Amino acid sequence: MQFINLTRRLEIGANSYLLKTAGHNVLLDAGLHPKASGLDALPDFSPIGEEILDAIVLTHAHQDHVGSLPYLTRRHRDTPIYMTPATARVANIMLHNSVNVMTRQREDANIPEYPLFTHRGVELCAESWELRPIGHAFHPNDSSRNEIKNMRMRFFDAGHILGSAGVLIESEGRTIFYTGDVNFDAQSILQGAEFPNEGVDVLIMETTRGDSPSAKNFTRAEEELRFTKSIQEAFDRGGAVTIPVFALGKTQELLAMLWKMRHQGFLPSVPIYIGGLSSKITSVYDALTSNTRRNFPELQLLQEMSPYVVGGPDIGSLYPRKHCIFALSSGMMSENTLSNIFIRQILEVPHQSLFFVGYADPESPAGRVRRTLPGEEVALQAGGPLLKLKCHRKEFNFSAHSSRETLLAYAVRLRPKTIVLIHGDMLALEWFRNSLSAALPQTKIVLPEPGQTVDL
Ligand SMILES: [Zn+2]
Ligand SMILES: [Zn+2]
Repeated sequence: MQFINLTRRLEIGANSYLLKTAGHNVLLDAGLHPKASGLDALPDFSPIGEEILDAIVLTHAHQDHVGSLPYLTRRHRDTPIYMTPATARVANIMLHNSVNVMTRQREDANIPEYPLFTHRGVELCAESWELRPIGHAFHPNDSSRNEIKNMRMRFFDAGHILGSAGVLIESEGRTIFYTGDVNFDAQSILQGAEFPNEGVDVLIMETTRGDSPSAKNFTRAEEELRFTKSIQEAFDRGGAVTIPVFALGKTQELLAMLWKMRHQGFLPSVPIYIGGLSSKITSVYDALTSNTRRNFPELQLLQEMSPYVVGGPDIGSLYPRKHCIFALSSGMMSENTLSNIFIRQILEVPHQSLFFVGYADPESPAGRVRRTLPGEEVALQAGGPLLKLKCHRKEFNFSAHSSRETLLAYAVRLRPKTIVLIHGDMLALEWFRNSLSAALPQTKIVLPEPGQTVDL
């Protein structure tokens, strides 16, 4: 059994991994780098060469796991692609949106190879999607649609975003479990992951938060109270609260949290602004309330919160009106996104507030603003003007990823023979390698370099 890391660098970028087992090629995720551009944003698929992919498995619909799928499947048209039904609904929206974004970037950023695929390409790709609910074991088919009898798969709820799953693969008399992105703790809407607690030989594990130790005595409930109080203080200063958020996952968790606070009397009813993509995805969350494990199963976010929906062309004329909440994507404030354009208006205004609530790549505009000291200058776009950080900036921990301590404890409980570390920046990967080596001296810990073939 062999494992090849198809990412181009050791970082969270374009996630994709090739598992070769029992004469079959199984691809795990096919992401697109959220920061890189052009062909460099793709995983390095060259180790696949002329070989046939027998099956593709998608863990969830975030861009860094799904974004290159229609590009890849142009050459692997017959390969079945397995995912949960909720992931399929969301992935369809994300991929069509990605065509629109790339088409704009082709002109704006002069990237002639964009779009990497078309709307028609997404439709053709979707013809090969095979939906499998969480908890049901199945034999995958190969590209000739013959059942692979000596391999079984099963999705487990990963608690990360709607539809997210880890996948258990049984092959060659061994079990391999790929976590995808995981959260073991309940968020506002999603309940925590339900992963296998025994019988895993090889654990392929994300390490996103390996470089961020949890604060002592941290609880989500207290973090929510601190968040509510901070919103109130921001309003008392006469400003608005702006929160850069991912359109998929964080926006819906935030809306649910604001609903809960309002319901409990901690927050008045205030106008909330979200982007068009966020609104589309929220409607999928609402449509699938009864099909997914969640808190507040009756809650219809769009109906209860009635957010104002901001389209791309409106963003230039949107003003940070006092006592409003602007929850705009992208979460990393990537260039030419709603949050990046809008936040240029508030960064230099002392009574405005900017709240960060989740992960941002350290080199992204959001990462740069988080590192900037008050009064110092920061650029939100390449070659753009330097802006002085004068607004109130606060950070909150509402991560959709497990804390490193929780993830470590899971791996130690599971006690697999081999652990493969992926999906983390260098320091995060190193922390897990060192901690796991100390806690599980009998376990082989692997940190696969990009392009390297590892025998499992
Ligand atoms: Zn994710
Ligand atoms: Zn990810």
